[in-house]
Formats: sequence, structure tokens, C-alpha cells
Amino acid sequence: MSPDREVPRAVIEFAAVSKHYPGRVTAVDGADLTVRYGELVCIVGPSGSGKSTMLHLMGTLDRPSAGRVVIDGHDVADLSDREVSALRAQRIGFVFQQFHLAIGMPVLDIVADGLLYAGEPLRERRRRAARALTRVGLSHRLGHLPHQLSGGERQRAAVARAVIGGPALLLADEPTGNLDSASGAAVLALLRELHTAGTTVVVITHDREMAEVFDRKVEMRDGRIVGDRAGTTAGQGVHG
Ligand code: ADP
Repeated sequence: MSPDREVPRAVIEFAAVSKHYPGRVTAVDGADLTVRYGELVCIVGPSGSGKSTMLHLMGTLDRPSAGRVVIDGHDVADLSDREVSALRAQRIGFVFQQFHLAIGMPVLDIVADGLLYAGEPLRERRRRAARALTRVGLSHRLGHLPHQLSGGERQRAAVARAVIGGPALLLADEPTGNLDSASGAAVLALLRELHTAGTTVVVITHDREMAEVFDRKVEMRDGRIVGDRAGTTAGQGVHG
């Protein structure tokens, strides 16, 4: 990861990417996909179509069986496991359906932990965490424990933790899957806001209705990308 490398043109570049699992399962089959900096993209498809596998490959949680995966200008095949971990910690934020917030820890510290890799002192991490929580509308909940928050608040805290380090790429796996529709809409609005502020956001979902509000919709079936088109921009309503 040399500092003088060329500025990459895309944050995600997949070229003929496949992922096979034991038992002759091909979860992703020859995917070509480019996501540029600043895009807001939804990957939609039924259960088992390969969405999570795509997200794991984008998030460098997994390596491809075949093809080329380039994230933020780095071909993951050229990186050691340690370098891949560093890339992930510094450049990628994750939000999952199940929130994954540490139990028994105030949200301020949970979000501050998102900066552990940056090596900043605790005080500075907490200061930035308070700012991130304010940004997601939780300035009045800094000392709350996760179980004292509503599902929607927990997910907003998870988003704050994911973006506190200023990642190049925010990956969200069914981020509204466990939420009622009002909280889900608030989380989607938050992702959209982050996108407007410059973050690249990729969301996966099986929810076709939700997918309609994204700027770009990539459709998956049986491990293949079968559609990739501009969606309806939020605020303009959903057109049939
Ligand atoms: P989706 O997120 O769209 O539900 P996945 O990417 O989770 O799809 O899974 C795609 C296919 O790969 C499914 O048939 C699934 O059963 C299979 N699969 C996923 N992970 C594994 C694994 N670790 N081992 C074996 N098969 C897997």
C-alpha cells in the first residue's frame, strides 16, 4: 500500500469474479462490477442469489476463487492477510442486520472503538464518537447501553461506528431487516445522507421495494449479475 500509487478510478472493481464453496456450490459466478467513488448502490436478489458472498468479497472478508477484486485501488490478490486486514480497518465500514454492538458498553465507547485502529487517545476517540452519534441523531443517548436503545437507535449507532473513521466504502447487509418500517426508513435516510456527504454506500437486500429508492440497482440471480441500472431517485417517488 504505497502512498504514491495512482488515484484509483473506482472503489470496487470486480472482473470475472467467482466464489465456489465446497459441495460444488458456486455462490458468485463470473461477476463484473464497477462501483465508483460516491455512488449509492443496492444489490438486490432473492435469498441464496449470492448477495452476502458479494458483500464479503467487497469487504475483503473473503477472497475470490477466480477473477480479480480491486478495492480502493488495491488488488486483494497482491495483499497479505495482514495488509487486507489493514485495508478493511482503515477503508471499509460495515453495518449488519443484527447490529453487532458489544453488550454492556455505553454506545459512546462502542462507537469510539471504531477508531481503535487509528491509534488516537481515548479522549479524542470519545470526542469524535460523540460527534458521530450526534450526526445520526443520538446525542441524547451517549451513555446508554445497547439494550436500552430501540432497534432503530441501535442500527443508527452501528452506522455511526461504521463511518467514524471516514471509510471509503460503507457496506450494509440488510440494514433495515430487523426494523419496523419507520425506523427502517430513518436508517435508509441516514445512509442516503452519508452518500450525499460523499461516502460510497453499497447495500444488499432481498426487498425489491426498498431497492427501488436507490440510485443504482444491481440485480442478482443464482450467483450472476442479471441487471444493473439506475433506479428511482428518492424524493421523486417510486415509478412502476
Ligand atoms: P444471499 O446473500 O443472496 O442469500 P449467499 O451469498 O449467502 O446468498 O449464498 C449464495 C449461495 O452460496 C447459497 O446457495 C448458499 O447456500 C451458498 N453458501 C453461502 N455461504 C456458504 C458457505 N460458507 N459454504 C457453502 N455454501 C455457502
